[in-house]
Amino acid sequence: MTVTFPVPSTTTSRFAVAADHIPHDLAALLRGPHAFEPHITGRLGSPPLDLRREDLGDLRWDPAQIKAVHPGQRRDQQAFGSATQFAVVTSTAPITDQPRGVQVARAAAYAIAAATDGVVADLIIGDVLPQPTAERTSFVLADNWLGDALPPFRANGRCTAADPDRDPEGVNGCSCVRLRTHGLRRFGLPELQITDVACPHDLAALNVLRTTARHLLTDHWSWLATGPVSRTRTISAVRRLTQGDFNEFWGSSRREHLSPPIIFEARLTPITARLLSVHPPHDFDGTVNDWLWGDALPLSIRDILSSPADIPLPRAA
Ligand SMILES: [Zn+2]
Repeated sequence: MTVTFPVPSTTTSRFAVAADHIPHDLAALLRGPHAFEPHITGRLGSPPLDLRREDLGDLRWDPAQIKAVHPGQRRDQQAFGSATQFAVVTSTAPITDQPRGVQVARAAAYAIAAATDGVVADLIIGDVLPQPTAERTSFVLADNWLGDALPPFRANGRCTAADPDRDPEGVNGCSCVRLRTHGLRRFGLPELQITDVACPHDLAALNVLRTTARHLLTDHWSWLATGPVSRTRTISAVRRLTQGDFNEFWGSSRREHLSPPIIFEARLTPITARLLSVHPPHDFDGTVNDWLWGDALPLSIRDILSSPADIPLPRAA
């Protein structure tokens, strides 16, 4: 069993900064000593790093559609949605330039936000980003690259299915949860989704998506490093995921290395050319919820909502 997907030669990422006053000379805001300065200088004014100042009347996108993932970001969402001046950072770069290309673009957006007291949003995933921050020099997928977040708890309270800790019926008590990544396309990969998940397993489902995303990204970059000329790629539909993939999602090597390493299989099926669905392996006897609740997955997949990376975030430039 295999899945085949198109591999674009270039991808585009866009970030926007909303502030009360966005100056006309955006490049001037990016000078100064910070880790990404040489990369920014080398790309400025070319497709990999295009800066534009835009007023509300000129926009071809809607700031009101930009959402806050976390309740603590509601004020940023409001500030972004009601702003009238924006700096838009667009990066169109070869996928072989990733993840450096998108990191440089986001570093530029963070630097503009720091200089203007602005709010940054990722226009590919449609979310405001945590403020204020700066770009980590190493790439960590957990740094808001996937638009990955838990759905509202128990469908905003509408779901009253049993808790599987108290009632075995609760393992398959509902199917409220559907999760989808929103950022893999910028690395030349299809997005991932998992559906028909019962509310009590939402975190496990999210972490399976995160682990699968990190696994596919590592694999994709290895493939790209071989210099393929093909514009499509065929991979095995059965993926052997490890605790290491999950740790790597967080940029963390601290958690104990278990030996033998825990390996669990997931199966990919194409929904469209740019969207894959994640399922239990074929030989698993049960539903997606039995899989997420069972002992096939490492315990941490069910437990960990967030985890700090080894390399700390720099202070805002
Ligand atoms: Zn539910």
